[in-house]
Formats: sequence, C-alpha cells, structure tokens
Amino acid sequence: MNNFTERSFTMAKRKWKIKFIYCLIALLVAGVCFAAPSVLAEDKDGTSFEKMSTYAVGPDSQVIAEPVWLEEYIAMEGEDFPYKVAKEYYLFLQAIQEAKEKRTHAEKVDEYAMAAARGAEAPAALGKDGIFRQNRSKKKKVALTFDDGPYKNWTEKYIKVLEENDVKATFFCLGSLIKAHPEEAKMIVSSGNKLALHSYQHNQLNAKTQAFRENDFAKSLQAVEEVVNVPIVFFRPPYGAYDKDLVALAKENHLITCMWSVDPQDWKQKDSAKVINSIMNVVKDGDIILLHEGKKVTYDALPELIRQLKDKGFEVVTMNELLYEEE
Ligand SMILES: [Zn+2]
Repeated sequence: MNNFTERSFTMAKRKWKIKFIYCLIALLVAGVCFAAPSVLAEDKDGTSFEKMSTYAVGPDSQVIAEPVWLEEYIAMEGEDFPYKVAKEYYLFLQAIQEAKEKRTHAEKVDEYAMAAARGAEAPAALGKDGIFRQNRSKKKKVALTFDDGPYKNWTEKYIKVLEENDVKATFFCLGSLIKAHPEEAKMIVSSGNKLALHSYQHNQLNAKTQAFRENDFAKSLQAVEEVVNVPIVFFRPPYGAYDKDLVALAKENHLITCMWSVDPQDWKQKDSAKVINSIMNVVKDGDIILLHEGKKVTYDALPELIRQLKDKGFEVVTMNELLYEEE
C-alpha cells in the first residue's frame, strides 16, 4: 500500500469512527427521550408502553411534548402531585387501566382452570366422566382449538391471523413436536394463546399398555417443562380415542381430558369455504371447535371463519375461558 492510499484509508477509518460516535450519541439521546416512559410504565403497571414512543416524557414523568393538553390536571398513579398531561396520553392511561382489568380477569380464568385440573374445582361443564366437550352455559362464546402442532412456519402464521383478528385460541401440541420446534411452542405461550397436550407423538393411547401411556405423559410433560415451563390444563387424546383409565391417568397428571363439539373434518377438506360452512351451520353457545395446525385449507379459512363467528355475535375464547365459572 503506498503512502497516499494508506493515509486516505486511515482517514476513511477515522470518518467511520466519528460517524459511529455520532450514532452512539444519537442512540443515547433517543434512549433518554423515549426509553424513559417505558421504564416508568413498566415500573408502575407492568404494562408495555410501546405507544408512548411518540411522546417525550421527562424523568419526573411529566409529558414535555405533544401540544394537545387536557384542560385538567390528573394525579399520576403513585404520585401525589397532579400532572397536566396531553389528552392522548390521558386516553392512553385509561387504555392501560382497561388492559389491567382485562388481565385480572384472565388471571382469574387461568387460576380457575389450573385448580380444576388439580381437582380443586369441579366445573359443571365437565361430563360425569370428567371429560370436557362443550359448555352450553357460555352464551355466545366458542373456543377454537388446533391439534397436531407446533409446526415450523405454520404455527407463526396461525398466530398472526389470530392476532390480526384479536382472538385467542388453544393449541393441542405433540410433545415430540414441542421438542422439535421449541420456538413455535414458545410463540404460542408468549402470544397469549394456550398450549395444551395431544400426547407425545400421536399414538392411539387407548390401544397401548399402561406403562406406555405413563411414559407418553411423562415425556410430553417433560418437553413442556423444558421448552415453555407453563402449567398445562388440557389433554386431548389422539383420534379422540380414550378409555376410563386414560382419563384417570390424565387426571393424575393434573390434566383435564377434552374432546370437541364441532368437527368440520378440516384435515380432509380441500375447500376452505366447506370448512367454514360446516362450522357455521351447526355452531352453538359454548362449542369447542376442532381444527388442525399445518393445514393450508384451515389457515385460509381462519380470517373468514372468525369474521362470520363474530358476525353471529360469538366471542372466540380460549379453553380456559370456556371452562371458567364466575363465583
Ligand atoms: Zn391429532
């Protein structure tokens, strides 16, 4: 390398260094302006303040940007001093309050479901045989359930459609696939959907020995613990094939055996309209709708199915919510 090239090389390097330092400073400034509110909010509410990124909030939690001020002063949570806040921020605080109430309900629902799985609650919705098939007392509520996953790519796509349509579902997963696709299993949980069990690798368990069954549950629950480590409430036997001993074994493992009340046989359909129609023609209060993961026809049917259910006044809920009984 001759002298000239070497010098311009060094200068270019220096320029990049300066650019890099500017970038760092810019990031730092942005961090002070925009990270402060998220810290503030998480500290107080445990709620994400993503929407706050358009505001600048000082370290004393006073809104220092946004010109549309609310005419009154409001007391910020945990503060004695009432702050004058931007109207949009005020509405945002209200939204957080609503989200908090929703969360409290969701927590109650989950606690109830776990207590029911442990046998500490006896939901009226369970059949005499302890099996959950539907809950007719749940007016205008239905549960969507997806069996046989999780799958690479598919699970994520299903979750996205559910998110876009603001509903939650329950995924009955295979222990072996939870191990094979841990990221997808984690996604089910982190997106607020429910993960449930559908055996280790889809063996027809009522045709297997007790030892095989026990091992199947143990392996599946170990996979759940290793990958997502959240309590599981429901178990659906492969092919819906069960006997008394299998239901009892599920119960020993703190799992409620469940079936379904609407089966559009999506696994053998080629036309998503047929899947939708065979559900919409029969759907009733408290139905559990059986669908499958990793199926294009099912995936294609989802947005329209959810729209039609909503049009008929149905709320699409998780299995936990469908089981829940208000005290
Ligand atoms: Zn299955």
